[in-house]
Amino acid sequence: MELECARLAVYNAARLKENGLPFAREAAIAKLKGSEVAEMCTSRGLELLGGYGYVKDYPLEKMYRDAKIGKIYEGTSFMQLNTIAKDVLKRG
Ligand SMILES: Cc1cc2nc3c(=O)[nH]c(=O)nc-3n(C[C@H](O)[C@H](O)[C@H](O)COP(=O)(O)OP(=O)(O)OC[C@H]3O[C@@H](n4cnc5c(N)ncnc54)[C@H](O)[C@@H]3O)c2cc1C
Repeated sequence: MELECARLAVYNAARLKENGLPFAREAAIAKLKGSEVAEMCTSRGLELLGGYGYVKDYPLEKMYRDAKIGKIYEGTSFMQLNTIAKDVLKRG
């Protein structure tokens, strides 16, 4: 369900951009939702493998770190929330 929500948020932002419509809010939603879902999925995968998920001998700890950075770079999750909130106040 969460993956589908993230995917649809990305498609929605892309659709708006391709049609020359304002897309800042939708792009922020897509980035925020996508990075949250990536973190959740890799975190659950890590827990599924227990200690093997955490140690560097296996690839999942790297996948988790790679997912986590999505909430930090190219505009942190808090900054995406700021963008969304400003646009909601402006456009309703
Ligand atoms: C692995 C990695 C790769 C990177 N690659 C690039 C790159 O290729 N190009 C590039 O330009 N940069 C890159 N960066 C930098 C990245 O974009 C910044 O880390 C990011 O912008 C956050 O800035 P900061 O680390 O200074 O955190 P800060 O700005 O100090 O933020 C710290 C915390 O405070 C919160 N915060 C800050 N200001 C506000 C505010 N006004 N309202 C609410 N919350 C706020 C943030 O959301 C965050 O949680 C990379 C960083 C990493 C870790």
